[in-house]
Amino acid sequence: MPELAEVELARRIWAPAIGGKVAAVETHPKTRVYRDTPARAIEAALTNATFRDSHSHGKRLLFVFRKDEEILPLEVHLGMSGRLALALQDHVPHKHDHLILRFKECALVFNDYRQFGRAHLHEDPNPWAELPPEVLDRRFTLAHVQGLLARRPRTTLKALILDQSCFPGIGNWMADEICWRMGLHPATVTGELDAASLRKETQFVTRGALKYIADKNEGQLKDPSEGFSAGGYVARVPPSNWLFQHRWKKGGHCPHCQSELDRATIATRTTAWCPQCQKAKA
Ligand SMILES: [Zn+2]
Repeated sequence: MPELAEVELARRIWAPAIGGKVAAVETHPKTRVYRDTPARAIEAALTNATFRDSHSHGKRLLFVFRKDEEILPLEVHLGMSGRLALALQDHVPHKHDHLILRFKECALVFNDYRQFGRAHLHEDPNPWAELPPEVLDRRFTLAHVQGLLARRPRTTLKALILDQSCFPGIGNWMADEICWRMGLHPATVTGELDAASLRKETQFVTRGALKYIADKNEGQLKDPSEGFSAGGYVARVPPSNWLFQHRWKKGGHCPHCQSELDRATIATRTTAWCPQCQKAKA
């Protein structure tokens, strides 16, 4: 499942159409991506609507349309294999293009061959008002992080970081990167953590992920009509002094001390850490 920087990159792929009017909507009504809002309802709502704005929050995407006085927020989840593409206006649909929004100048495409992703309309014009603050939000203060730790004192560091209600959009590789930067074993019990260090390193890794993945890949796609998919189309990644480049395969080494990385399942996810740089759990 894509993490926050890949989701933000996906948001930017559709951004060139902002300000345009949807001339036609094409769907595959029977696919599972419409399990929350029937495809026909999305077609009826968005045809002739104007694309006003877009937002990302953690792993979520929101595309805001307007028709007459009505605000129409379309939320998209990429799931496991979902991808967004910016295509030419006469784009010929691929087999798994479940949603195509045709504009005068271009077409926006949501493709998802495994159909774990979804697209649905909100009735509330401001549906994200209650979401928890993201890591780079100014409400993500030290007091806020202390509150998160107090709420879950007996879980592991890795499980806490993967909790989307605490750290929206942070997934597996980012969680490992944060534990490594904190110098703590991923199974460290949260009650022993320093909130300031947790806040500092989550913010550092989030800023870096956005810079190396969203900023550096934007406009770098060889063929924009191929769009974005998690992993496959991200050509540029964090540098070799991050854990990122070393954690994927067995035999990877710590970029700081060159020790071979340890691996195990922690918080149900494959986890890599450096046995030298990251103190064992107490
Ligand atoms: Zn090390």
